[in-house]
Amino acid sequence: MNGIIGMADLALDTQLSPDQREYLNTVKLSADTLLQLINDILDFSKIEAGKLDLDPIDFRLRDNLGDTLKTLAIRAHQKGLELAARVLPDVPDELVGDPVRLRQIIVNLIGNAIKFTERGEVVIQVAVDGQPQGDNLCLHFAVSDTGIGIPEDKQGVIFEAFAQADGSTTRKYGGTGLGLAISSQLVKMMGGRIWVESEVGKGSTFHFTAQMSLSKNLAPKLPTQQADLEGLPVLVVDDNATNRRISEEILRHWHAKPVITSSAAAAFTGMKKAHARGEPFQVVLLDCLMPETDGFGLAERIRQDPDLASTKLIMVSSTGRASVASRCREMGLAGYLTKPVKQSELFDAIATAVGNQGEPVAQPAAASPSEAGASRKLRVLLAEDNPVNQRLVAKLMEKHGHTLVAVNNGVEALGALERETFDVVLMDVQMPEMGGFEATARIRDREKSTGQHVPVIAMTAHALKGDRERCLEAGMDAYVSKPIQATVLFETIDSVVPNPSLVASVPEKLPEDDAAPAASVKVFDYEAALAMLDGDTELFSELAGLFTTESVQLLNQIHESIAGRDAKLLERSAHSLKGSAAAFSAGPSRAVAQRLEGMGARGEFGGADVVAAELREEVTRLTKALSKYRKEGAVCES
Ligand code: ADP
Repeated sequence: MNGIIGMADLALDTQLSPDQREYLNTVKLSADTLLQLINDILDFSKIEAGKLDLDPIDFRLRDNLGDTLKTLAIRAHQKGLELAARVLPDVPDELVGDPVRLRQIIVNLIGNAIKFTERGEVVIQVAVDGQPQGDNLCLHFAVSDTGIGIPEDKQGVIFEAFAQADGSTTRKYGGTGLGLAISSQLVKMMGGRIWVESEVGKGSTFHFTAQMSLSKNLAPKLPTQQADLEGLPVLVVDDNATNRRISEEILRHWHAKPVITSSAAAAFTGMKKAHARGEPFQVVLLDCLMPETDGFGLAERIRQDPDLASTKLIMVSSTGRASVASRCREMGLAGYLTKPVKQSELFDAIATAVGNQGEPVAQPAAASPSEAGASRKLRVLLAEDNPVNQRLVAKLMEKHGHTLVAVNNGVEALGALERETFDVVLMDVQMPEMGGFEATARIRDREKSTGQHVPVIAMTAHALKGDRERCLEAGMDAYVSKPIQATVLFETIDSVVPNPSLVASVPEKLPEDDAAPAASVKVFDYEAALAMLDGDTELFSELAGLFTTESVQLLNQIHESIAGRDAKLLERSAHSLKGSAAAFSAGPSRAVAQRLEGMGARGEFGGADVVAAELREEVTRLTKALSKYRKEGAVCES
């Protein structure tokens, strides 16, 4: 499949007649469908053969659900659908269950809901079902859509394997007819049941229940949060009623004082009135996309009104596009969030805004990683025994101007790394002689003495999905599944390889010249850092030197803690790094370290590897910049 999909992609990038393009597009589409079918059948047969076991672990429901929804949001927003999650306040957050399989069910149900809905919204609601029995409880999930609906006589069959409500479904919407069958089995394994309520033309609600228990290991994080936002007047502007209701419910649960409005005009009037009463809103959550005046229009109006200008504004947008983020920054908004908003993100954004820390939270990178990395040329080592895949990756790298050295197994990869340096290693997992896990472990072993770290990206098949943890444990930095999708591969490369263009952009000038315009984020603030040291440049140099050594150790510790799933160690080492970065007023490094620290505190490892790679990148920029200032400090003195 890798060969078919990859080569079709490559051929589509060449000069073609319209007919040829159409044929190849059909090849690509059919191959994608076939791949989905193969993956579903693999899962299904694993369940049928009793080879699939649940893997219950401690997890946080709201964060987990939030992350799942983020992955589905793009599809929903492309169709102009709202996607929202409502977790009732009495649903406990710290649970024991299998979050991976839970996610699979939710992805399938929400994926279907998006697929079969043209207009309106898709909402997932989570409630407690019945009375908890000691530490055990049953959760009730409901995914509703406003889509085409399912005729009554078909509502029973769709849960069977290969069944679709309508014979033309595959042609019109794609799909294999296996998703619900797999979900049914998974739900059964979780001690629950699944059913549907639906009306043709109105929409469907898929319900399922699942048994979980309360976690004894995860500490609740809500009580401290409540204290912080107590009594805070917050205005919510959103044209979607479901979103308004959810925001209101969450804010009330945090004991804030939310007021909801459905349009920019109503919001503005409300703000003026509140100001006149002497009870101004401190924070406004603005939906970016609204009819008539949108979020930016409203923000502009608020900014221009002397009574309201100081209100903290947080933009909530459905696109994670860089242009929206940079516009928020330009306008000096207090925060920027993408939909569907995770509760923890919302809390952090509001807390940061009222804490007056000034820095917009949860900003996506200014440019998408692939944009930022587009122009750089990398040296890539590929360890892969399959000649089709070798050729495919070689072509992809060539097209992006990277240099590729291909070897056939882990032993050869180790040899190549001994002879030459590479910016990144793409490592197949299953290879003759020496596989990817062992080769990576040996690379990491060698690096212990040199302090270096070459990013290794694992390439492995969907059937081995459970191997993700193994990849990270073996010391790999990231993971892409086969068949390789070019965009995913390049994005992954960008996320793990420190960006030389960013490093190079550290100004080649004297420290005082770096009073950069407020809009551009400084790697660190020399003046502020120096001020903290009473202007002692010598001490600054000494501390900068210390940081350079210490950060290497801490980054390694972070890496190990993620590989070993050691939440305490992750929290501790990220915390130390955060503290050290703060000593230099290094905003970006501090912010990323803080995010990781939070993940450690919450025991949340999903995506921790990506954040850790980001941190490594930031710290590399910081140490480079520090070394420059150290040297220049010396020059200035002499
Ligand atoms: P697939 O979506 O791959 O066809 P599923 O097992 O997930 O397979 O779904 C089976 C069938 O149930 C779909 O083909 C469709 O006819 C129907 N169905 C599932 N979800 C919805 C929904 N939200 N709205 C309308 N029809 C649905």
